[in-house]
Amino acid sequence: MKTPICANCKKNWSWKTTWKQTFTFKQAITCLHCGEKQYITKSSRQKLCLPPMIFALINVPFLSFGVDFFYLSIAYVICIICIFILMPFLYELSNENDALW
Ligand SMILES: [Zn+2]
Repeated sequence: MKTPICANCKKNWSWKTTWKQTFTFKQAITCLHCGEKQYITKSSRQKLCLPPMIFALINVPFLSFGVDFFYLSIAYVICIICIFILMPFLYELSNENDALW
């Protein structure tokens, strides 16, 4: 797994940089190496929609086997942590802003 690469200067963004930049929720993210505006690609935006679906999937075994709510909460917390750690790896950068979908 790789962290995103700037489409302009081809430098790797660190995990920490990516994480910080993406949580600003701005359309354009400024590259810390070259100062150019970078945009998240359409395909990576689509990938980012997948993690929330994991939550729906976790519910299935827990609800059908009547597992204690305590264990369900632990499973949720573990999933949230995993998603936060993995998110920067899902990003791909582009010099141009794609149409939303
Ligand atoms: Zn750059």
